[in-house]
Amino acid sequence: MFYRLRNDFRLSVISLLSLCAFVGITPFALYRFWQGNMLAALVDSLILFSILSVLTYAWFSGDTKRSGFLMALVVSAGGLTIVNLLGLVGLFWLYPCFITGFFLTSSRMAVLINGITLLALFVLKLDSLSLEHLISFATTALVVSACAYIFALRNESQHRRLAHIATLDPLTGVKNRRAMEEELSRAVANFERHQLSCALVILDLDHFKAINDNHGHGVGDSVLNQCVQILGENIRKSDRLFRFGGEEFVLLLPGVDRQGMHSVVDNLYQVVRSELKCPSGPVTASYGATLLQAGDTADSWMERADTALYQAKQNGRDKVVLS
Ligand code: GH3
Ligand code: MG
Ligand code: MG
Repeated sequence: MFYRLRNDFRLSVISLLSLCAFVGITPFALYRFWQGNMLAALVDSLILFSILSVLTYAWFSGDTKRSGFLMALVVSAGGLTIVNLLGLVGLFWLYPCFITGFFLTSSRMAVLINGITLLALFVLKLDSLSLEHLISFATTALVVSACAYIFALRNESQHRRLAHIATLDPLTGVKNRRAMEEELSRAVANFERHQLSCALVILDLDHFKAINDNHGHGVGDSVLNQCVQILGENIRKSDRLFRFGGEEFVLLLPGVDRQGMHSVVDNLYQVVRSELKCPSGPVTASYGATLLQAGDTADSWMERADTALYQAKQNGRDKVVLS
């Protein structure tokens, strides 16, 4: 439970809001019931029920996107009801409602919900609110929403940038192992659903440790960068290159058959062999390649490619083994 709360920001906001609403609204509902003010008691109970329903839906379905949107609607509707009941004083409650929308749903949707809420206030034309009250509130609420919108936009763009950086290898700039695992699973799903073939190639530089030992880590790094550049120049746009670890790279080649896989790997083998160099001479690599097969999981597919690579190393390195 704590794991989900820590890792799902929206779920934690929905839960926290629900807790606050439960603690804050329940006494009012009971008090109004005790007073005999059945309408107010019913409204409070309805708001509570809606909030707890969304909370339950969020926890059971895990669909926090939809739950957040629903909760933003409930909060705004609740805010409007409070204004309806309390008049001018109720307007103060709309500020937190306007802000929480940005935590519960996308910034655009929050702006839309806030706009509709404001519009509803003008349309309802409550007797307890003068035009001056409404205009003052609308102006300040717009300023508050604009600030929250800018903050949310900045947050969203930073989040996207961080998520992008988390999938990149800092040395070579290609996608890292984390991104590779996602793409492998996607390729397996595409194969199961649409029979889209895909080849997996693992490439491991030969005797790379010796390059580091003889010429230094900096030269080793530049060989890795050169390798990425050569591979990048010799694959199609739709092919995917990942740095799997140290001096190992993985290539995903969607849409190729066995013959296609053979010719791509053969071409890469020739190009790397003739173009990749360190101060003491050419650098070679070993390759293990295999096509995605029916019944494969990402792990079994990877294991087969890894076994092929192991055989290439066992056969003396600077070899290609297709499995
Ligand atoms: P093999 O032919 O069997 O693949 O031998 P190898 O020397 O290439 O492989 P081994 O696994 O023994 O050594 C890999 C080396 O790669 C050891 C590690 O220090 C080095 N390495 C890993 N990451 C980096 C890196 O980012 N930069 C540099 N320069 N070296 C790295
Ligand atoms: Mg190696
Ligand atoms: Mg290795």
